[in-house]
Amino acid sequence: MSVVRGLLDKYGLAPKKGFGQNFLVNAAIPQRIAACSREYAPGDRPAGVLEIGPGVGALTQYLAREYDRVVCVEIDRGLIPLLGEALADFSNVTVVEADFMELELPEFLDEHFGDLLAAGGSVSVCANLPYYITTPVIMKLIEGFPANGPLPFSAFTVMVQLEVARRLAAEAGSADYGSISASLALRCRVEKLFDVGPGNFLPAPKVSSAVVGIVPHGGIRQVIPDAPEDPDELLRFAERVSGLIALAFGQRRKTLTNALSGKYPKEKTAEALAVCGLRADIRGERLSAEDFCRLALALA
Ligand code: SAM
Repeated sequence: MSVVRGLLDKYGLAPKKGFGQNFLVNAAIPQRIAACSREYAPGDRPAGVLEIGPGVGALTQYLAREYDRVVCVEIDRGLIPLLGEALADFSNVTVVEADFMELELPEFLDEHFGDLLAAGGSVSVCANLPYYITTPVIMKLIEGFPANGPLPFSAFTVMVQLEVARRLAAEAGSADYGSISASLALRCRVEKLFDVGPGNFLPAPKVSSAVVGIVPHGGIRQVIPDAPEDPDELLRFAERVSGLIALAFGQRRKTLTNALSGKYPKEKTAEALAVCGLRADIRGERLSAEDFCRLALALA
């Protein structure tokens, strides 16, 4: 707490609510997050990590010890000189001043990690995410890369609000299950790792947080091996599945037949549900990612 306060005071800064700044002040937490993150990356190859929002560098310094290369993206211009001082001992850290949401991710990865990837290395993502853009950041990491191939990351190890962590990791049919749970499951498996109480931050947020590991799997053909093999067809298929998920959760209180009726005639959905062995009056919130894929195949 005193180190973080001291650094902020020295640069005449205070945490900015608008940028979702809740800085970690208990060193044990970022140390544990960095160690969990590194465990997902292969140990025998050069490993890089992209950190979103380094703040005053609490997590960055531990990532710098775990990884060969750390690239951080920070939106707050005022923090850049402070980070220069806080991370002066680490020659493997690059701080980029930018809005993560504005980045062209494939180009950014190529620029900062292209050589490492070409040498057989891996790239992870690790962050104590600003809460105002948690879901958009996660969706950008996923949707920034074509849905007909695997994601180019070992894992995303991210701290989010506890409630969001539950949603990300939720199973079909549970109260927390939503479109983000189903969309994530198409490309990743999600593990809730540990909870973090409000007292570990400056300022203390009103709610608890949790760290989750989001680990890309082989992609949609791992969820449903019957999906088209041809890359262009697979891409179109993935789009259809995403469209179904959006429609199903856009009106989650309706039966799936009704929720899809603007796009598919009710009889057609009923027939496809029967082919999948699902009840005619089922709601979308009960369908797993695999069910959505099977339904998309049946509807086609
Ligand atoms: N990593 C630090 C820690 O754990 O103490 C800070 C985490 S704080 C919750 C979120 C950080 O993300 C802040 O430093 C904030 O300025 C930064 N941030 C917010 N929006 C951002 C954006 N769009 N792009 C990049 N950084 C952003």
